[in-house]
Amino acid sequence: MDRTLAADLARLPDLLDATRRAAAEALATLDERAVVPAAPKPADPEPLPEQGDGTETALAAFRARWEPRLSASAGPRYLGFVTGGATPAALAGDWLTAAHDQNSNSSMDGAGQDLERETVGWLRELFGLSDAHTGTFVSGATMSNTTGLAIAREWLGERLGVSPAEDGAAALGPVRVLSGAPHSSIAKALSFLGLGRSSLVRVPTLPGREAVDPAALARALADTPGPAVVVANAGTVNTVDFDDLPAIAALRARHDFWLHTDAAFGAFAALSPDHAHLTEGLDAADSVCVDLHKWLNVPYDSAVQFTRRRDLQARVFQNAAAYLGPLGEHPDLVHLTPENSHRLRALAAWFTLRAYGRQGHREIVERNIAGARALGAALEEDPAFTLLAPVRLNVVCFTLADTPDPRLGARLTALREAVSTEVFVTPTVHEGTAGLRAAFSNWRTTQADVRRAAHALRTAAREIT
Ligand SMILES: *Cc1c(COP(=O)(O)O)cnc(C)c1O
Repeated sequence: MDRTLAADLARLPDLLDATRRAAAEALATLDERAVVPAAPKPADPEPLPEQGDGTETALAAFRARWEPRLSASAGPRYLGFVTGGATPAALAGDWLTAAHDQNSNSSMDGAGQDLERETVGWLRELFGLSDAHTGTFVSGATMSNTTGLAIAREWLGERLGVSPAEDGAAALGPVRVLSGAPHSSIAKALSFLGLGRSSLVRVPTLPGREAVDPAALARALADTPGPAVVVANAGTVNTVDFDDLPAIAALRARHDFWLHTDAAFGAFAALSPDHAHLTEGLDAADSVCVDLHKWLNVPYDSAVQFTRRRDLQARVFQNAAAYLGPLGEHPDLVHLTPENSHRLRALAAWFTLRAYGRQGHREIVERNIAGARALGAALEEDPAFTLLAPVRLNVVCFTLADTPDPRLGARLTALREAVSTEVFVTPTVHEGTAGLRAAFSNWRTTQADVRRAAHALRTAAREIT
């Protein structure tokens, strides 16, 4: 064994302690550190070490060169994109995932797959899905959408008497994927799956809304020759609008389509009794996407995908190899997702659900919704701001008032940069107007953070030119 490696092995518990201290220090300063470091100078790449000098020196180098350049995205005022943190239990689970280093994709191995299945069962209950849905872990909502649409592709083949998994996507001929306000990852998935970005047909939304107009969807389906795919959106990123899921499902009485629902973070509305109606009808989907590294607050990268047609899923993703078992009634995970080898990703989710249960996660969701509402109210009463949409759940979509169009983009950038050490928000365009979004999904965020964020935004709006 390499001498440095052997020395590290001999003092592994000490090294883990040192790492634990470094992690604890990083987490203890989340509140004081700049949310995004001010214009960090990029570090010049160092040459590959010929002789290493062990974990302790690597840790010191990381802390000196890289740690100060990282954002406090695990902290309470990183409100960009939709970004969760990591609950204490989720972090513990993630550390142990690396310690046990399982490749849990086959029944020949230990019980890793069973832990994943138990966790999927808990998640299914959390989101009110029936046991007609089976699920698997993937790395994020983009991969979950991709997997769901890959199953949809195979379903189209079943309807047309071909198998895209065997014969390629071209065997389907032209495909239409209908959606009101799909996330950008849907187009990416269609590109990747050989269906093409141009297969995505935008269906009109309701006036002033991002929710699809069910009557317009019915007309688009009537205009579609042959079976189609519908992507329903349960929580859009700009205004967290929800399609009317029961109304969409009801269209199946007259039209033939696969229903995929992107509920990446919107599914968590099911945890709040006051908002659970938004997710009504989620179970009717043929495939469902839910992200976990957002509102479940597990570390990156983690999401789950559910489907009612595991048979088609296995047709797409089966990995026929002499050393792997047959598909059978409960196919090994290696036959169900784009990855073959994968980490025991479920463990962090298992830990946080085991530690805090439904009620603990309900409290996070409801506190985040209250935070978004409070920030929305603070900006609405300030003449410097205008809300671009009502705060429907956990996102505030706003812009600067009284700013003529040619200057709006530059002023918003100036505002965003002026506050970014205190609160991080991300740009968007809603109905043709440039704006900013503040998304609440971190378990640490409190009303005190909302006041700090509101104060920073209101002060900066007066200081920028
Ligand atoms: C975040 C998000 C995605 C993509 O998720 P990743 O985890 O970044 O892959 C897809 N759909 C919706 C609605 C999202 O919010």
